Parts: sequence; structure tokens; C-alpha cells
Amino acid sequence: MAKKVTFTIDDKECTATAGSFIVDAARKNGIYIPTLCNYDGVKPAGSCRVCTVKVNKRHLTACTTPVAEGMEIELDTAELNDLRSAVIELLFTEGNHYCPACEKSGDCELQALAYRFQIMAPRFPFQFNERDIDASHPKIYHDHNRCILCKRCIRAVKDEDGKSIFTFNKRAKKVRIKLDDRLGEALSDEQALKAMEVCPVGSILVKEIGFKTPIGKRKFDKEPIGNKITKEHLLHKEDYHG
Ligand code: SF4
Repeated sequence: MAKKVTFTIDDKECTATAGSFIVDAARKNGIYIPTLCNYDGVKPAGSCRVCTVKVNKRHLTACTTPVAEGMEIELDTAELNDLRSAVIELLFTEGNHYCPACEKSGDCELQALAYRFQIMAPRFPFQFNERDIDASHPKIYHDHNRCILCKRCIRAVKDEDGKSIFTFNKRAKKVRIKLDDRLGEALSDEQALKAMEVCPVGSILVKEIGFKTPIGKRKFDKEPIGNKITKEHLLHKEDYHG
């Protein structure tokens, strides 16, 4: 039988299988940890840092850190929520996100997290980076304005030999997601749909099925992402900003 460990999240005693990642262990104990680059069943990358928690006073990503006996995890603190909010705000200013015109609005995890953290306007200046929209593939559009470079498509959409169909192209500020030249040509309908589903924003869209689910009936239209923010958290947030 798998070994169990006991640990705390914000002083709540929790139990989980040793070696499971904090984000999954928390969920099993009814606690939501916000994430963006993480996706169920896909190897975690720890790249977006939205899930940052403090473990025994050290900042660590909850999606890549396994739980261990006696861990003391801080999650819902003013400092950590402000850090998460800052990451989300940076993503909004670095890309070009026009939610009202985006087909993923209501299904978008970035937008849902912005609502969760009550972001009205980012604290950072918009960069208005030039990005293009690639509609050259017969099955999908790729809108680079919305891509947050989370690598979910690279990690989740693979061929039968386990090779990634999406890949990174170029470097640093110019880095872009692209389809592998050979595997992209053979992209199946299922792979295209999976890519659209795993993309947390509206960067990968399958052609000819736009706006299938009407606005108002989408994933986060009725149920906000994760748990509701507690009154205590809101008070802490106000304290933190003085
Ligand atoms: S296309 Fe979507 S899934 Fe792929 S890296 Fe960009 S945001 Fe992430």
C-alpha cells in the first residue's frame, strides 16, 4: 500500500500519498491551488509560477513539489496572493488579450483567474508586442497574441510514438509555439480538438466550430475557477496593500 504522509496547508491538517505533488494533494483534501501551466495527467512544468506556495518558509511551485511528512505549507496569504496576481497581470500586459473578442472568453483560465484575483487593471504597463495570427493550417488557427507559453500543448498533444506535435520556435522574446513540420501536417481532428482543449487561453482554435457554446453557458460563466475567495483573504489583501 502507498505510504501516506501528514502535512498542513494554512494550518489545516491534510493527508496524502507520499510523493504526490502539493497541488494534487491539496485538491484531494478539498483545497484549491490556482495554476495555469498545470494540466491533469500531464507532466508538470512549474513554468508559470501561479501555484507558488511557501513550504517551510521557502517559495516553491506546488505543481512540481512532492508532499512530505510534516511539511508546513502556506497558500492563502496576502503575500502569495499578491505574487500570483502579479504573474497574471504580467501575462495580460505581455500578450495582447482582448477578452470580448476572444472565442475562449468564459472558458479561458487566464481570464477566470483574473476574475478570481479581482484584477481590474494591471499594475504594469502594456507592452503591445507584435504577434501574428497563423491561419495557414487547414484545421487550426494559432493566435500568438494570446499564447502565454505555458507549454501545455507541447506536453499534452503527442503522436502514437509519444513525440510532441507542437514545439517551440525561436528564442527569448521571439519564442513562438509552432506545429512540428512533419507531425503537424498529419494532425488528426482528435489531436486538433485536444490542443484547443488543453490550451488555457484562446491561442489554439479549431476551424469551423467557432462559438459552439454560447456566451453565458461556458465553463466559468456560472462557476468561478477554484473556490470562492474568502472574506478573510480579501481583508488580508487590503492589509497587504496598506
Ligand atoms: S498555445 Fe496555448 S497551450 Fe500552447 S503554449 Fe500557448 S497558451 Fe500554452
